[in-house]
Formats: sequence, C-alpha cells, structure tokens
Amino acid sequence: SDRNADLRALVRTIPDHPKPGILFRDITTLLLDPVGFAATIDRMAEAVAGPFDLIAGIEARGFVFAAALAPRLGAGVLLIRKRNKLPGTVIGVNYALEYGEDRVEMHADACAPGARVLLVDDLIATGGTAIAGAELIRRAGGVVTQAAFAIDLPDLGGADRLRAAGVEPVTLMAFE
Ligand code: 5GP
Repeated sequence: SDRNADLRALVRTIPDHPKPGILFRDITTLLLDPVGFAATIDRMAEAVAGPFDLIAGIEARGFVFAAALAPRLGAGVLLIRKRNKLPGTVIGVNYALEYGEDRVEMHADACAPGARVLLVDDLIATGGTAIAGAELIRRAGGVVTQAAFAIDLPDLGGADRLRAAGVEPVTLMAFE
C-alpha cells in the first residue's frame, strides 16, 4: 500500500532488531522530520472520531504521539506505563509475550467513570499491548472505542484482534 507514502518514506527499517530475523520499523526518523511529524499528527487527528476526554499513550513511543494529539483534540494525556514506574496507587494488566509476560499500569484514579479515551501507540503488531491497554482503561472505568497507530503490521493480525475486542483501529501506514 502507498497510503501516506510521504510518511512511509520517513520510517527507517532496521534489520535484526531486537533479534535476528525481525525487521524493526523505526519511527525516530519520522519524529526528526518537522513536516513529517506534523503531518502524522494532523492525519491521526483527522482519522479518529471524537470527542475524547483523554488520550492514552503507551510507554514510551506512544507518549510522543499522545502528547501531540491531546491539545489538538481538546483532551488530556493519560500515561500507560510499564510496571513500577508510576508513583501513585496503580491498577495493572498482565499480558503474554512470545517468551514470558509483560504488564501495563495506570494510576487507579486517572480516569473518571465514563471518560471517553482514545488509545495511542506508534505501532500495532500482534495487538497484545494495545488490547492490554484497552482492558486496563476499561477496568478503570473509561470507555475505549478507538485506538490510533502510526503503523500497522497487518501480517501479525493485531488490528483484527483489537477490533474483535471492541476497539476500532485507526492506522496511517501498513508494512509487511
Ligand atoms: P504488539 O503488542 O502489538 O505485538 O507490539 C506492539 C508494541 O511493541 C508497541 O508498543 C510498539 O511500540 C512495539 N513494537 C513492536 N514491533 C515494533 C517495530 O517494528 N517498531 C516499533 N517502532 N515498535 C514496535
């Protein structure tokens, strides 16, 4: 697909990261480009259907996109972090990795009951991270119906899994 070809050209591919055989799609080069990053935020903001009370970014690259989108969309920023990073009382959701387990956490009081939350990350692969993030926000009382990603890896099926979990994925670029 050549959807958003101008943005695709700013994503760098790094072979064998973090392990042999993986093609890592590196968005740091997109962030470095002022026109490209601004266009990414504009197009994400146009593609989602608000209103939203909060934009939830997933640590760490999701924070960058969430923080840029929030003032555009008239919303606050909700940080979804890895384990043991947040200072207050947290709730958490564990999720399976290929080997082992990971965990996302948020402050238990970060989200008012019924708050409309847009979930944001740089990329969706298997969907495990985003599905855990959506479950976390729902447990906290938030309402999540959409999630925005700069990049989708459709071969890994995450966008379909997320949709099956009741969250509509919005993506700008697809890579094999
Ligand atoms: P998933 O949980 O969907 O399998 O993996 C998505 C998570 O891993 C996201 O938080 C994303 O930042 C990270 N991730 C996995 N593969 C890549 C990649 O190729 N490039 C980037 N930038 N992030 C990746």
